[in-house]
Amino acid sequence: MVVSLNQVHHEIEVQNAYQTALAQYERAVHRLDIDENVVEYMRWPRREFTVNFPVRRDDGRVEMFTGYRVHHSTVMGPSKGGIRYSLNVTLDEVRALAMWMTWKCALVNLPYGGAKGGVLVDPKSLSLREKENLTRRYASELIPLISPHADIPAPDMGTGPQEMAWIMDTYSMTVGYSVPAVVTGKPINVGGSEGRTEATGRGVIISMIEALKRQGITHPGDVRLVIQGFGNVGYHAAAYAYEMGYKVVGISDIDSGIYNPNGLDIPAVRAYSTRNRTPAGFPGADTVTNAELLTLPCDVLIPAAMEGQITEHNAPHIRAKMIVEGANGPTTTEADDIINDRGILLVPDILANAGGVTVSYFEWVQGLQSFFWDVEEVFRQLERILVRSFDATAHMAEDHHVDMRTAAQMLAIKRVADALTTRGFYP
Ligand code: NAD
Repeated sequence: MVVSLNQVHHEIEVQNAYQTALAQYERAVHRLDIDENVVEYMRWPRREFTVNFPVRRDDGRVEMFTGYRVHHSTVMGPSKGGIRYSLNVTLDEVRALAMWMTWKCALVNLPYGGAKGGVLVDPKSLSLREKENLTRRYASELIPLISPHADIPAPDMGTGPQEMAWIMDTYSMTVGYSVPAVVTGKPINVGGSEGRTEATGRGVIISMIEALKRQGITHPGDVRLVIQGFGNVGYHAAAYAYEMGYKVVGISDIDSGIYNPNGLDIPAVRAYSTRNRTPAGFPGADTVTNAELLTLPCDVLIPAAMEGQITEHNAPHIRAKMIVEGANGPTTTEADDIINDRGILLVPDILANAGGVTVSYFEWVQGLQSFFWDVEEVFRQLERILVRSFDATAHMAEDHHVDMRTAAQMLAIKRVADALTTRGFYP
């Protein structure tokens, strides 16, 4: 689909995530000495795909669904990015997430461009069979776009290993042979990598530890964490933090949150919320709303649900000393300014949650080579890459007197701009 600049600017007024992504880009790119043609080129998504497709429900009805896939950039390599199932999915949200993937991959030096996909659906409203029907049909509509060398999807909100297995199978059945490397985040028994499920949450905590170390805080028992979102990222961040001895005092899911200033037993909370489909009512903890959760007293706040959660309205009331972004785009640009003015250190999404795409990259490499690593090797390499990226971002921030988000974006944008300049504008 071709979009006019007017159309993009019109949608910006109503679609916050893309507005945030573009505002962050403008802020970072103008601190760099980059040719204006390159600046303009990188502002645009390369390709945008919209599909309307039918899914047969269990009661025999056929319902239409809308899905998207956006390739923001393919300058550094094949595009990479998750697929989201949510009722909040819009083309602008997918554009924003695709752009963030470009910067994230460049920041941690992976040979990928950025992409994202989404289907406008509440995954909880589908039976297993309906979810399989929807996933396979959406995957078959994506066949012209995806391949191990062109575009490699992965899980995001509302999708996980099972959806990736169905996409891999649909693609493989179409081309006639098995192609595990077409998606990452697969179950281990069909070519997934050890450590992929935990990777994003674990990476969030690795980034947090690096940030705390620089503030001279090395004793986990002294640090209280509040985590918004108890899905793949939120739960695994909580579990790893708990394992390391940090005190997780608050967690939430979409419906509500719980708080215990003495620390929560995360494995017990997990078991309870799986059984009851909500953490609310967990013994010994107070029930709090999602809004209250964000302003609880704590040392580190980890938004790990979705974008646009920290805004100009709640940023003045946040009591954490540090924010580590597990979700993509959880903080608006207005909130960024407030947080920076208040001296709260923010470790940005493209750095803090890059653990997921990093182990996705390991999975892709392992799949292409048909040679698999053990979990110790995966975690060792993950930590090496994240710590190196954290150091590079911290140095950039110091050298240019900018916040960590601007520094991370500057590093990433510069790498893509340099590669683009070397490749040249085709034809
Ligand atoms: P998930 O679907 O596994 O979990 C999402 C969690 O957030 C659930 O607990 C859900 O109840 C909660 N939630 C949803 N909407 C909410 C709302 N409005 N308020 C409060 N809580 C809400 O998704 P996930 O994979 O954990 O992804 C979470 C975030 O992390 C997203 O922004 C995603 O883009 C980002 N992310 C995910 C990965 C990954 O590997 N899965 C990698 C990088 C970034």
